[in-house]
Amino acid sequence: INTIGVLTSGGDAPGMNAAIRAVVRTAISKGMNVKGIQRGYAGLLNEEIVDMNSRSVSEIIQRGGTILYTARCEEFRTEEGQARGAEMCRKHGIDGLVVIGGDGSYRGAGKLAEHGINTVGLPGTIDLDIACTDYTIGFDTAVNTAMEAIDKIRDTSTSHERCSIIEVMGRNAGYIALWCGIANGAEDILLPERYDCNEQTIINHIIEHRKNGKKHHIIINAEGIGHSTSMAKRIEAATGIETRASILGYMQRGGMPSCKDRVYASIMGAKAVELLAEGKSNRVVGWRGGEFVDYDLYEALAMQKDICEEEYAI
Ligand code: ADP
Repeated sequence: INTIGVLTSGGDAPGMNAAIRAVVRTAISKGMNVKGIQRGYAGLLNEEIVDMNSRSVSEIIQRGGTILYTARCEEFRTEEGQARGAEMCRKHGIDGLVVIGGDGSYRGAGKLAEHGINTVGLPGTIDLDIACTDYTIGFDTAVNTAMEAIDKIRDTSTSHERCSIIEVMGRNAGYIALWCGIANGAEDILLPERYDCNEQTIINHIIEHRKNGKKHHIIINAEGIGHSTSMAKRIEAATGIETRASILGYMQRGGMPSCKDRVYASIMGAKAVELLAEGKSNRVVGWRGGEFVDYDLYEALAMQKDICEEEYAI
């Protein structure tokens, strides 16, 4: 491998910059050239490709977001788009590509591999919704950000003796909700993987708690269930207890990456380059059973994990 390309795709996540930095510096230490592809697959098709050196990634390990920007790209879902993407790689001499993103970005990487470009995927998403790994870049920062916000909301909720529904991100997965629910000592945690839409159970729970003298009732609701505002209105009407909804939103996606996200993303970035240097392709890196591992991309995409039965690394 002479030249490694690196791109970030799908939703941004804190720690992506640490991964980019590790890819660039590991590749340079092995005598390879590095090109940064901006705006994911969209930038690949538009040739938004920049040379990177050691200094290009100075002062970024502590920054949230991604210095390469990220985008979604419909054209890349088509056969023509994928063939053109591979052509662009060849035109710029990129013979190995590191794709940092989620499942969708992995599928794109798989297509490039089919077109002869060696690819390795790194799990970059705050949602932890990639089955082959118990850790994704950005999750740790996002849950810590959400946890701190929920602690603050709880103060007001207790002072006013209210019920609070706090909606956290996660797309269709409940990992952020589950972890915050535990970390914040929530009374109820609503997970898309398990929710039965029975609000009466929640209402009964609130009434019972109030009878037992609890001053607040914190419900963590996952984005995949949503409708927190209308849920709050129905709960207030049924219980007579003032109920407010707070939707945390994008504040969970930004900010300085945690120590864990910086370190794990750095290790994964280095591992991606090592795999490419060994001539491997169509692989994805994960964290499983207490170690960094890599899997065949299509095997990884076919895996499933169950939020309630799984033991995940803490
Ligand atoms: P994530 O990577 O976080 O799951 P998306 O699902 O939005 O985010 O995927 C990011 C990008 O990856 C898409 O905009 C598209 O360009 C590309 N992509 C997604 N699915 C496919 C697919 N099946 N084939 C090729 N490219 C895909």
